[in-house]
Amino acid sequence: MTVRVRFAPSPTGMMHIGSARTALFNFLFARHHGGHFLLRIEDTDRERSTAEATRVILDALDWLDLTPDEPPVFQSTRYARYREVAEAMLAAGAAYRCFCTREELAEMRSRAEAEKKPFRYDGRWRDRSPADAPTGVAPVIRLKAPRTGETVISDLVQGPVKIENSELDDMIIVRSDGTPTYLHAVVVDDHDMSITHVIRGDDHLTNTFRQAQIYEAMSWPLPKFAHIPLIHGADGAKLSKRHGSVSVLQFQEDGYLPEALCNYLLRLGWGYGNAEILDRNEQVSLFDISGVGRAPSRMDYAKLLHFNAFWLRKAEDERLTAETVRRIKRDHSLEVTPDAASRINALMPSLKERARTLNELAEAALFLTREPPLPMTAKAAAQINPESREDIANLIEILRTTEFEAQSLHARLVIFAEESGKKLSAIAQPLRAALTGSTTSPPIDLVMAALGRKVTISRLKNVIDK
Ligand code: GLU
Repeated sequence: MTVRVRFAPSPTGMMHIGSARTALFNFLFARHHGGHFLLRIEDTDRERSTAEATRVILDALDWLDLTPDEPPVFQSTRYARYREVAEAMLAAGAAYRCFCTREELAEMRSRAEAEKKPFRYDGRWRDRSPADAPTGVAPVIRLKAPRTGETVISDLVQGPVKIENSELDDMIIVRSDGTPTYLHAVVVDDHDMSITHVIRGDDHLTNTFRQAQIYEAMSWPLPKFAHIPLIHGADGAKLSKRHGSVSVLQFQEDGYLPEALCNYLLRLGWGYGNAEILDRNEQVSLFDISGVGRAPSRMDYAKLLHFNAFWLRKAEDERLTAETVRRIKRDHSLEVTPDAASRINALMPSLKERARTLNELAEAALFLTREPPLPMTAKAAAQINPESREDIANLIEILRTTEFEAQSLHARLVIFAEESGKKLSAIAQPLRAALTGSTTSPPIDLVMAALGRKVTISRLKNVIDK
């Protein structure tokens, strides 16, 4: 049996990181078992579904490198098939048309309310002939659900869960306007897509009983189910915007790396010993449902940031440079010349040690793209005084002949400091202020090497000429 799993988002807004985690678990499960990972867009809610939200889902999956193995299935294109299955159920006596009027249903509802019981349709059209149908009532199609016994699901995460069939009423599978209900569409799709394992959030656990009844009515084999606990915020409530960012593309915008987000989301709800940092290959080889915990996990933004800093240090310099350049243009509306991009790339090994996000990286790299005069922080400006100006003037002459490579530059600065009877930092700080406009930066020898002789000298001159 080839494993086939699906990620089935509803395109009604942003993509929540909880959904991203569901997609990731499905993807890893498929890869681990040599199976297929599919995407189904659940867009039957025509009012709330948008093409824009579908685009967001596709972009987010693409960014996270969770590309489905087949083109997406759109539920909105499958209405005829849902009706066909409902007709087959009618023909087999597994479903029936219900002609209840609005008033009858309202009455059942208020009776349930008065008795403080949950509303359940009483099944009054179960065995009645459609010949009795009142005129002017468009019927719904209901499942003829079993009334005795129990429905049991052996969930791969939650264990066996069951419900007395007497607690479930005959659910509607096709509405009076001919549209399928959500639970019906999902079952037809999962069957038609040959889904072997349904891995999804445990908010769908109770739906599973009703879905199982539809499988049974059609004599279709039941897939295996794995309901994963939802992600909560630090306060134990379901993770939402008020806890912090929850949209996948917001994390992208904020400078997170997809591999960091995936690594973190994997660890949120799945474990393998003490393993924390895992690349995609390791994830695929280790992931299985047996490692998914039963308790809800708590989103820890600080830990995510820590993961991001780790993956940032691991990332290729060229990739980070391209991201940095893009963000400098986007967030600071600055042009980045090819020369400036080379400077950023040259300093990247050091810049990435200090940043936790791509946005911090862009911020830290800004000075490499500027033309003098550089904007200076107040602390940096305080470094420039008659004495440091004189040092800088002397250094300019030395730098004209020093090899522009970090080690030589460092050695030269050490000698200069000794000769002037000063601490190295007393020389380095004014230099840093003049070259970066700030009092914090990567080591000054690396900065000078990245800037190159021409730019270094022109920045220094600009400062002492002022
Ligand atoms: N469309 C559902 C959701 O976005 C998922 C349903 C399923 O996975 O069966 O929550």
